[in-house]
Parts: sequence; C-alpha cells; structure tokens
Amino acid sequence: MSDPEPAPAKLDFIREIIAGDLAAGKHATTITRFPPEPNGYLHIGHAKSICLNFGIAAEHAQSGARCHLRFDDTNPEKEEVEYVESIKTDVKWLGFDWGEHLYFASDYFEFYYDCAVHLIKTGKAYVEQESVEEMRAKRGNLTQPGIHSPYRERSLQDNLDLFARMRAGDFKEGECVLRAKIDMASPNLNLRDPVIYRILHAGHHNTGDAWCIYPMYDFAHPLEDALEHITHSLCTLEFENHRPLYDWFIDNCPVPSKPRQIEFARLSLSYTIMSKRKLLQLVQEGHVSGWDDPRLPTLSGIRRRGYPAAALRHFCQRIGITKFNGTTDVALLEFEVRDFLNACTPRRMAVLNPVKVVLDNWPAGSVVQVPIPNHPQNPAAGARQVALTAEIWIERDDFMEVPPKKFHRLGPGRHVRLRGAQIIRCTGFEHDAAGNVTVIRAEVLPGTMGASTPEGIECRAAIHWVDATHGADAEIRIYDRLFTVEDPDAAEGGFLSVINPDSLTIITAKIEPLLAGAEPGFTCQFERIGYFVADSLDHQPGVKPVFNRTVALRDSWTKKAGN
Ligand code: ATP
Ligand code: MG
Repeated sequence: MSDPEPAPAKLDFIREIIAGDLAAGKHATTITRFPPEPNGYLHIGHAKSICLNFGIAAEHAQSGARCHLRFDDTNPEKEEVEYVESIKTDVKWLGFDWGEHLYFASDYFEFYYDCAVHLIKTGKAYVEQESVEEMRAKRGNLTQPGIHSPYRERSLQDNLDLFARMRAGDFKEGECVLRAKIDMASPNLNLRDPVIYRILHAGHHNTGDAWCIYPMYDFAHPLEDALEHITHSLCTLEFENHRPLYDWFIDNCPVPSKPRQIEFARLSLSYTIMSKRKLLQLVQEGHVSGWDDPRLPTLSGIRRRGYPAAALRHFCQRIGITKFNGTTDVALLEFEVRDFLNACTPRRMAVLNPVKVVLDNWPAGSVVQVPIPNHPQNPAAGARQVALTAEIWIERDDFMEVPPKKFHRLGPGRHVRLRGAQIIRCTGFEHDAAGNVTVIRAEVLPGTMGASTPEGIECRAAIHWVDATHGADAEIRIYDRLFTVEDPDAAEGGFLSVINPDSLTIITAKIEPLLAGAEPGFTCQFERIGYFVADSLDHQPGVKPVFNRTVALRDSWTKKAGN
C-alpha cells in the first residue's frame, strides 16, 4: 500500500487486543477483513472501517498480517456489479491493497448450505412453516419469553427433506424458512430461534439462478469469517447484541477457525447522512448529480471534490476507535483537508468576482513576464511566469469607492500591490447607470516590481489578479454543505426537507493561463480564496476549464454561526 499512516501513538482498544493476542501466541498472525455489501457506493464511514482493518494489517505486515476485501453479496435483491467495481476503486484510492485476497461471500453458498444441514442433523435447526406474522407474534419481547413453534420438534428426517425441497424450489417465497433452534426464552432476542435461510426466487449477480434459498446475514457472516481464517472480525456497535449469535454459529457449525467479533463505534458526521438507502434516494431522485456528486460523503464524491486520500486517512486516525457512538464535527474533516492541501498544493491565481482594471501608463503593447512563487512558504516549489499587460481583472471586493481607513486594498487614490508584480495606484473609476463599477483606472508605480516599496508610499496589501489578455474563463463550482442542519436524519420533515438550496453555485471566473491547461484532477490553492480541483469528468484542458471548490481557506460556517 502507498504511504501508510503510522500506527497511532497510543493503541486503541482493538489494537491493544490484537497486540495482546499476538503476544500470547493466540494466532501466528492477524487477519482482518473489510466486508462491504455491494448495494451502494462507499462513504466516509466505510473509510473509517477500511483504515482500521487495512491499517491493522499494514501495521503487522512483518508477521504476515493481511486484510481481505470481501464482498458480502449474499442478498440477491439489491446488489450490482457497478457497486463492486466502484468499491474496489475506492479502496485502492484510499491507499490500500488486498493483494490476492479478494473474496465474494456468494462463492461460499455451498458451504453455508452444508453448515445448515449440519445444524439440522445435530438437532439445531428446523424448517418453520408459520408465517412471518406468526413468528413475530410468538417471539415475545424483553419481558416475555417466546412461544415454541409447533414445527420446532419435527423429525430430523422431515427437516432434511423439507430443507432439500426448499433448495429444489418446491416452495414459494415466505412459505417456509430454516430457523436455528437455540432458546426461545433467551433474554437476547437474537437467540430466539433466528431465521437462517429464506426462499428468494431471485437471480444473483454471481450465481445466477443456481439458488433460490439465501442465508441470512447473521448466519453467513461468521461462517465467511471462519472460512477465511479471519482472526478479528471488526464491526460496528449495532452488532454487539448479535455477538452471542455469531459465537453460537461458530461453536455449532463445522468451521475451520474461530474468529472473534469486536465492535467499535461507527462514524457519524455533522451535516451529513451516511445511510446507503438515503444516499441512493438522493441519487435516484436527482437531488444530486450522481454517486460521485462532490457534495456527497461518498468516497467517489469526496475524491471528485478534491479531498486527498491522505487527509482522509489522517482524519480517520485522528478520530480514533472507541466504543462510544457520537457525532464528529464535519469541520474537523475540513480542517484536515485544508491542512493537507496547504502544505502540498501549488498556488495559482483566479478571480471569482471580476472587475477590470486598466493601467493607463502601461507602455502600449508591452507584455511583462512576472515570476510568481508556486508556494510562498516553500521555495523548492519554484516559480512560474505569469504574463501581465495593460488590462487585468481583480476581485470586486478588493476595491471600494469609499474605503474605510483600515481597508488596505484599492480605492480612489489608494495603492495596492499586484501579487508578485508592481504597486498600482487607483486614479479613477467608471460605473454604469445602476452605480456598479465597470472599470477601475490605475497607474503603475515605476520601479516597484517584485517587493520594493518606495518611501512615502503606503502599500500594505497584495492582491491576486488575472491578466485580461492572457487569462481564460472557467466554470467554477462552489460547493457547500448539502444540508442546512447538523443532524439531517433527525429533521422533522425528513432529510430531504433540509437540503441546502445553496449547496452548489456555479459561476464564471477568470483564471491565469496555466490553469486553463491543467489536467483533470489538478489541485491547487486559488490564492486568498480556497482550494480547487480541476473536475475529473467535465474539465477539458485548454477547451473548457471546470474547477470544483474543495474547501474555502477559512471555515465560513463558523463565522456564519457567529461562533
Ligand atoms: P447500510 O447503510 O445499508 O446499513 P452498512 O453501512 O452496514 O450498510 P456495509 O456495506 O455492510 O454497509 O458496510 C461494510 C463495513 O463498513 C461494515 O463492516 C460496517 O460495519 C462498516 N461501516 C459502515 N458504515 C460505517 C460507519 N459509519 N462507520 C464505521 N464503519 C462503518
Ligand atoms: Mg451492513
């Protein structure tokens, strides 16, 4: 894998358990797995699990540790090949590699079946013919034990015959199921004879029409883990109550190893939803442009937005692994992204809200190549030449007709430095009938190229600019949070009711010539504005520049909220 994060300085409880098991000689090595169900695109919550599972394997690489990528594709109804491919792409992008260890849970259908037959033969499973409603009614609740089904004590042979007929397709969906025979009085409802096989007359993306019975998740998952010799099966907290069932299947089925399930808190982010069902709804109903819409928390969206994989890994490392569910402030993720991009991206100039400046004393036809550092704090990043002529664009905000005293940029009679070039002085401006400034007139102060400021001239600020002759137009997509509230899932009118109407603003900006030719995926800081990436799909170098705003330089939400 590329550039792994080092193991956290202080081991989290899972890494402690694993280190303890290794020290005690419980396993020769550590084998983890990341088991996505291919029913949607991966999101940043999955990134937490990927970084944990693959991260642990990388940390113990010396002892031969590894992490499997296993598609948990035992449910035929919602799964698609498109998702399988996107998941592989996302895991690789995050910087991890499963090597030889790519598995499909659907390859084990025969094994689950054998395990089910084994349970029947040992008197630990039976074919149930009561309806779902009847089963539910007899399950009891936390204060009342369940009631035995009349089919619970049918003969072993009857069970075997019926289960074989279920497989042969003799029954309709819902007519019967296979249940594990555990304990209808257990205080843990998951142990009250859970369903382990159901009939689904549905084609499967891997096995086609070979099967019409499919194992339930709780049954299949421990068997998958055991078959792959997983040592530590890491999952999120909602499975804590399922662990006794996980262990029961491991103890009662003919499995080749004994994995241990350990639960950790899932990642929840403010202003974000993470349920695949809801993400699918956003995509299908056209609230966003697709799974890779840069406003989504999907890894493909995040990548298109320009978040670096390393920043994500670092974020996952920072939030850590605990047993306590909570919500992480999305500002922390944005901080990591900003921090990372600040250190490594080149600087470029773009004017998002342009107004023209005409330099009246500029020699006619003259073009000056201005050397501008690519990263002011990092001389090793070098400098580029940016052409300057008599007409340039600057930000409207960098000019005020009647500037207050503390405004150090342009105003009538005021001076400002053009980034990397000369100091100019505003000599006047023109406006239209509505009072909007249309052109600013200025003169260049001779001998001020670079950094020198003549005595007696007050010039305290440098502003970015784009040459009007050589610069290009670009479509800029300003992305903001997709939801207006911290917890969209809790919104009274549902998460769709709190979609931020301003989550995408498209503007036409002026960009320096070099940017127009940038390759898709090129990331940089637009000086004084924020971090931007050339869109991976729509940006055409030299033809149609399209840039996405990855993140603003500062956290505008904190400001808005008055914090
Ligand atoms: P759904 O959204 O349908 O509940 P899921 O999020 O459980 O699905 P899976 O494909 O089953 O999706 O997840 C694969 C792995 O990623 C699981 O091991 C799961 O525990 C982990 N995972 C999913 N969401 C998060 C999250 N928010 N934080 C940490 N891990 C997660
Ligand atoms: Mg799941």
